[in-house]
Amino acid sequence: MASRGKRKVIDLTRPPIDYLTTLPPELIHEIINHLLANHNTDIAFASRKEIDGDVPHPLVTLAASCKKLETEVNQWAEHFFKQHAAITHIKPPPTNANPTQRDWLHGPSGLFNWIAKNCAFCGKKSQRAAILANGLKCCSGCDRSQWPDKITKTDAKNQFALKEHHLLPHRHQFGQFAKSGATLPRLRYGTYMVSGVATTMFLRRDVKILADLVHGDVEEHMKERARVKEERARKKEAKEKKAAAIDEEWESTHTPFQRAARTGESSESAMLELTQLIADHHEGGAEGFLFSEVLRESMLRDTQQG
Ligand SMILES: [Zn+2]
Repeated sequence: MASRGKRKVIDLTRPPIDYLTTLPPELIHEIINHLLANHNTDIAFASRKEIDGDVPHPLVTLAASCKKLETEVNQWAEHFFKQHAAITHIKPPPTNANPTQRDWLHGPSGLFNWIAKNCAFCGKKSQRAAILANGLKCCSGCDRSQWPDKITKTDAKNQFALKEHHLLPHRHQFGQFAKSGATLPRLRYGTYMVSGVATTMFLRRDVKILADLVHGDVEEHMKERARVKEERARKKEAKEKKAAAIDEEWESTHTPFQRAARTGESSESAMLELTQLIADHHEGGAEGFLFSEVLRESMLRDTQQG
């Protein structure tokens, strides 16, 4: 690195210093440990090649990078096979064999073949990737026991009143949610295809912690939310009942026969209602009463004929 003022710039005239291979083996093995459980969070949105597993595992790439790292990955693989002999079913080497010369990586019994075909937790044959560590093969039983209580994104939103920008803030680095998302932790999650649809899964306990950060006490928040929803539904029902009563009132004073037909009441009762209305309108005046009687008879006749 050369320095120009306070800003450091990369010097391309000198070969880069190889820090990785100079690390002690135990540190390189620690890095390999992390690479084994490799995870592509958005694999369901990745290329077909990546989904089908045609992209090499990071350990394959690391071992292929130089002789030194290949040796380290090989030693790590030997340790892995022996440490997990109960599931790898590794056969003990012949007593006269030199273990340092054995290739633990390639071939049918090598690490690369084993991790591509076996559940990393029970060793059973499996082509299924772990949802939250999709660099590993994992049978569905082990997936459930290793990462219990997973929750879909839809359930996380509905059960904890969270939005997309809360759950996946890194996808909202710009725009109106960028500021709120910047303060939230990133949750671990995995994506996989279910019947051709990309599904995102989280761990329930992670979502609960996030929801507490967003809402304060999430359980209290959900109770309050349910109360407000109930209150809104109650007000809506009361409003609808009031509107229906107004309609009913209007119908009985303007279209009593139509109402009788709709409710199944007799025309006679509609007629009585109409007569009463007319009488009321004329406040008991003789003229109004006579008119109402004439109208009543005429309408009754019409109804009987009809
Ligand atoms: Zn398993």
